[in-house]
Amino acid sequence: MSGHRGHPVWGCIADDFTGGTDIAAALVASGFRTTLTVGVPERPLPHEHDADAVVVALKSRTAPRQEAVTASLAALYHLTALGCERLWFKYCSTFDSTAQGNIGPVTEALLDALGEQCTVLCPAYPDNGRTVYQGHLFVGDTLLSESAMRHHPLTPMTDSDLRRILAAQSTQPVGLLPHAVLRAPEGAARAHLDRLTAQGIRMVIADTTGNEDLPVIERATRHLRLLTGGSGLAHVLPPPRAAGPCAPADRIEIAPGPAAVLAGSVSAATLDQTAHARRHLPHRKLRLRDLHEDPAATVAETLAWARDHLDPTVPVLLHSADDRADVEQAQKALGATEAAALVERALAQCARGLLDAGVRRLVVAGGETSGAVVSALGLRSLRIGPAAAPGVPWTSATYAGRTVNLALKSGNFGAPDFFTTAQEALK
Ligand code: ADP
Repeated sequence: MSGHRGHPVWGCIADDFTGGTDIAAALVASGFRTTLTVGVPERPLPHEHDADAVVVALKSRTAPRQEAVTASLAALYHLTALGCERLWFKYCSTFDSTAQGNIGPVTEALLDALGEQCTVLCPAYPDNGRTVYQGHLFVGDTLLSESAMRHHPLTPMTDSDLRRILAAQSTQPVGLLPHAVLRAPEGAARAHLDRLTAQGIRMVIADTTGNEDLPVIERATRHLRLLTGGSGLAHVLPPPRAAGPCAPADRIEIAPGPAAVLAGSVSAATLDQTAHARRHLPHRKLRLRDLHEDPAATVAETLAWARDHLDPTVPVLLHSADDRADVEQAQKALGATEAAALVERALAQCARGLLDAGVRRLVVAGGETSGAVVSALGLRSLRIGPAAAPGVPWTSATYAGRTVNLALKSGNFGAPDFFTTAQEALK
């Protein structure tokens, strides 16, 4: 039984796998016994009925619009069939989406399917430097459009105005829950949402300039069946009333054995982490030119090198770029989509090869990359463990009958030494 309800309180649909583990970790920290399934299971998995929160992790962020909508609705039907009381559409705290979206079309489709009038979009994650003011998203002290996100290989974010981005992705007018209203006396935010809803506005961007705004937004949105956003807001959800002690985050099985880091993200933080790790770890770059010429041989050579360097104390690093110039060169030669697909396929095959060679702990950098890796490994569900960094929990899963630990890192999360220190959280 979930608490004494017999069904989960929250059902979450995450548009990538790192987002899935990120929000699952936030829910665990908020006191929810949380299950994460990889894709929509054919039938409910053990634990789903018992959980307080169920997260379905999809790889839908950069999928064609209709595919993203179809996958998200399949996840919704799975979650509503489990009896989830409220639903959450989780996307990135930097609002990563293509020009056509998945965020706008999926939010509209979820609202329609649930018969709901209105939802709030709250991407902010102040602990990771993502805030929203007057509908504009900031990364640290920089507007989103001036941050490194403007160079993202698949979802370059060149506008900071979330209302404008969302309006271009949807058929609905977009409203704002502004900072001034959040700081007004209790009740003002809910009254503001009610006014917007009465005007027929179904999607409302929430300003969030700091952690202190999150509980105000949470209280003002308790009447909404659907919430959307980053995982910041999930950190302030009231714990489920009747739930017993939450499955402690550090109770996952820890797999002893060699570790590897697979970096397919080329976000600024990951490139810094890769540069740092290259000074400390055995490392090898998967060159796009080689992957294009002969992917099978490139992967085989990389794995042969990795097997020679496996060590129980020092992880090996496989990465796909040293710097932005590598990415620009590859995209010029192959196109962004083809280059990305080549890297994702190769890293996914490397992940399988590494686990088959005895690696028991994998750090994967990048949302799309993590999706490719977890799918190739055929993992069905992940258990959430201790945090390797804010928003990046270690997880455990079963691969070929053995427990393995994975930390799936969103590209821009983590300190520069993340790849060399992530394993300390497992000690
Ligand atoms: P993040 O979490 O930083 O957004 P993702 O894994 O989601 O990272 O996205 C990074 C994308 O960039 C992946 O699709 C990956 O395959 C692609 N990529 C990685 N290295 C290169 C490269 N050298 N050239 C072009 N694309 C690359």
